[in-house]
Formats: sequence, C-alpha cells, structure tokens
Amino acid sequence: MASLWDYPDFDAHEGVHFFDDPASGLRAIIAIHSTARGPAAGGTRFWHYADSADAVTDALRLSRGMSYKNAMAGLPMGGGKGVVLAPADRIKTPALLAAFGKAIETLGGRYVTAEDVGMTDADMVAIRAETRHVSGLPVAAGAAGGDPGPTTAQGVFLGVKAAVARALGKTDLAGIHVAIQGVGSVGGGLARLLAAQGARLTLADVHPDRATALAAELGASAVAADAILAIEADVLSPCALGAVLNRDSIHALAVPIVAGGANNQLATPADAARLHARGILYAPDYVINAGGIINVALEYLGGSDRAAVDQRVAGIRARLNQVWDESDATGDPTAIVADRIAQRLIGRR
Ligand code: NAD
Repeated sequence: MASLWDYPDFDAHEGVHFFDDPASGLRAIIAIHSTARGPAAGGTRFWHYADSADAVTDALRLSRGMSYKNAMAGLPMGGGKGVVLAPADRIKTPALLAAFGKAIETLGGRYVTAEDVGMTDADMVAIRAETRHVSGLPVAAGAAGGDPGPTTAQGVFLGVKAAVARALGKTDLAGIHVAIQGVGSVGGGLARLLAAQGARLTLADVHPDRATALAAELGASAVAADAILAIEADVLSPCALGAVLNRDSIHALAVPIVAGGANNQLATPADAARLHARGILYAPDYVINAGGIINVALEYLGGSDRAAVDQRVAGIRARLNQVWDESDATGDPTAIVADRIAQRLIGRR
C-alpha cells in the first residue's frame, strides 16, 4: 500500500484526516488542500468505493480542485473535501451523519462542508446538530445560500455570454445556437435563461423525456444523448457528467465555444491542448461553474443577501476574460492558464 505522499494526486495538502467510528460505521476522509485564503470549503461526497485507495484519491483531487475554484471565485476560502465511504448497502443512518458532524467539529472550523454527490440539504441539517461548520442549509427567501443549482446556472449563463462576445463578437444572444448536454438543475436553469434572451437551443439528456419536455416548453429542439457533442452550433454547454471532452469527442466537436457547468469536463490534461489546437474557446469548468459555491460560501460567512451573491457571480465574466487574455498572451490552453492563476492566488507559485 502506497503512503499518502506517493499518491499522484497528493499536492502538499495541509492535512488529510481519516475518521473511523465503529459505533456508527462511519469511515470518512476530510482532505484540506489549502487554508491560505480562509477555511477549507468544499462539499462532502457519500459514495461506495470498491477500494478505499480510490476514496483517498477522490479526496485529494477534489480538495485541490476546491482550492482552485474558491480562489478563482475571489472567495476568502481555501479548499477541502469530505468523502464518506458509503457501506455496500449505501444506507446513510442518522448516527453516521452525527458522527461525521462530530468529525468536522474536531477540525475546529478549518474545514466547512456542504452537499456533494450523495448528500442532501436534509443531511446538512443533520450535520448542523453537531457542528456549525456547514453550509448549503435551507435559507429564507432573499438570503444568500440554499440550493446552489440555480446560482450555478446563472454563472454559466453569464460565462456563455462572455464567451459569445469574445469569440463571435456578439453581445446579443438572440439567434445564438447553444447545445446543452444534460438538462438537470444546472443545464435546465441555463436553458431557461438562454431561451429568455432568444437563444436557439438544442437539448439532450440520458432521460430523453426531460429533454423533450423542456424543449416543448421553451420552443427548442431535442436530440439523442449520444448526438449532442457533435451538434453544429455556436456553443456546446456540457452540464451533465465529467470527462466528456476526450480525444474522440474533441475531434468531433462542431462549435467554436465550449462553456458549460459540469465539473471536470476534460478527460485528461492533454485535452486542454487538444481544444486549444482546434481553436475552440474553452471556459475552464471550475471558473464558469463557481456560482453555487459563491452562494453557499456567502451563506456560511453570513451577512450577505441575494444581491451580494449576484454581484459576486457577475465577477465570473471578468475572471474568464482574465484567463482568456493570459491564454492569448502566452499561447497556453485556457485550462492550463486557469490552474496557473489559481496557484498564484493560493500562493503555490
Ligand atoms: P442534475 O443531476 O440535476 O442534472 C444532470 C442531468 O444530466 C440529469 O438530467 C441527467 O439525466 C443528465 N445526464 C447524465 N448523464 C448524461 C449524459 N451522458 N448525456 C446527457 N445527459 C446526461 O445535476 P446538476 O446539479 O445539474 O449538475 C450537473 C453538472 O454540473 C455536474 O457535473 C455537477 O457536478 C456540476 N455542478 C453542479 C453544481 C450545482 O450547483 N448543482 C455546481 C457546480 C458544478
């Protein structure tokens, strides 16, 4: 078994904490990548791993990603991630959530959690009984916080507008053709915002009924899920799974812009260069999809309302333009440039 230092995703993390509570069955990892900008913020994933080494890898990789995302969003937060190793039956008991809340509390505020895959806002409420270092809780109307999906969609919408202005020289979205992969919380919200501006939409989802229903509502087209990545359009917006941009899909792309909300869109670092070589303007995923973390971070920090969230989300445009400017100046792919700027912001370069 490799030591922590030997994991390829180990990146001088400030701390990687392992928790084991036989009474509740909790086995969890909290990885703190950096607190240089503030408490390490990042959601908790509840997932059944065939091999616990995969859980460690996820915690290391995702916590570093949160450092970068929070820094690029201009938040006074570092990056961390919780991973709870789900038992084979995937049952999440109140005792397990309480034990995880206690685990977070032992870190004294160096880590702040929120929802991620497999965790709900009700789970955050349960964790809140043991620690105040949690966000993504239900909030009153008009306050910062709550469901991050709509705010993520708002940020992606602004990012699409910025990309269209930059690559196509158009400030008006009327008639701009956007292909959206995945019409869930983020992709569906994005589709509504774009439709309201007169954009032409092609939608796809692995649940085809979702895409056809939304297409009917918005006067859009729907295509099969396996066709969306090669649609001829102005913008492709991946809003479903990660790793959709790979050697084959990039070769087949028929768009000048890729700007979407999904996390980890590039299958490998080499795919950043592939997009760049094809002259496709890519909005780095963790820059354009930061709306949700902005929303829950301001909730945690307190004293902010929706207007403060909206103002900060609007800053996503300026950050994207900074990335694109530096890419133009250096000739480096935008995803590489984004990592470099983020590393500067957390004092790692
Ligand atoms: P969601 O589950 O609400 O929606 C995802 C949709 O994608 C579903 O309708 C699903 O059926 C569809 N889908 C899955 N695989 C697909 C495929 N191969 N082709 C077409 N459609 C497919 O999830 P969400 O909250 O909208 O998140 C979407 C993406 O955005 C994820 O990658 C997520 O990590 C990322 N993200 C979400 C937020 C947020 O605030 N919700 C924030 C940042 C990033």
